[in-house]
Amino acid sequence: MIYLVEHFYSIQGEGKYVGSPSLFFRFGGCNMTCVGFGCQEIAHDGTKILGCDTIYAVDKKHFSQNWTKIQTTKELLNILDSYKFPFSVDIVLTGGEPLIYANEKIFIEFLNEAHNRGYKIFFETNGSINVDFDKYPIFKECIFALSIKLKNSNEPLKKRINKDIIKSLISNSKEAFFKFVIDEKSIGSELEDEINSILAYAPKTKVYCMPMGANKLEVEKNSEALVEFCKAKGYNFSDRLHMRIWDKQKGI
Ligand code: SF4
Repeated sequence: MIYLVEHFYSIQGEGKYVGSPSLFFRFGGCNMTCVGFGCQEIAHDGTKILGCDTIYAVDKKHFSQNWTKIQTTKELLNILDSYKFPFSVDIVLTGGEPLIYANEKIFIEFLNEAHNRGYKIFFETNGSINVDFDKYPIFKECIFALSIKLKNSNEPLKKRINKDIIKSLISNSKEAFFKFVIDEKSIGSELEDEINSILAYAPKTKVYCMPMGANKLEVEKNSEALVEFCKAKGYNFSDRLHMRIWDKQKGI
């Protein structure tokens, strides 16, 4: 069973391909919660849930009543067909954590069909879930934005950084790059050592650092210090363009 939270056509707001016209599929569920990111969402029963900026796509218990259960590949393909693009766009699979479905038949069939139709496929992933590239060679055709979670996510180290998985995703995929979420107060802390230790597994992989924030104001507050950090380290700064343009609005 696959849960789809939303689908929408927009521009890529983060990372190396920022600005590219993209069709987003946001899948429900994640193996983390990232409460350290401090975003709050109110569930249908009034409970305040703390987590990342897409907690509504993470917390199954409180938000899955708004998710769509996908039971056949055709349902996903029908969604794809409902967008009638007269030009080429990218497909971005995000979440939550889309790779929790990496062994689901429906998911694999959808990837294969989208690839056969000429779409470029991108994954937005936390890079902690293993992908079987031999069994599912379609993943070799995909591009992975590896948003490895750092200490500021408050997730346990063992859960968020797995050297073998990171190496496998980088060496087997068509392309991969790192995308770290960083807040001003973490700059100058152990977080820098963590980034160095991750980069040691893949020294040639490009690094994009983007400002933490639940909304436009918070993103802006963290941006200036992060720009200086990127300049000092030789990393690329990645904006969160969708937040600057649409603030906290979803599905755009
Ligand atoms: S890994 Fe990503 S989607 Fe999952 S809780 Fe953390 S930030 Fe959210």
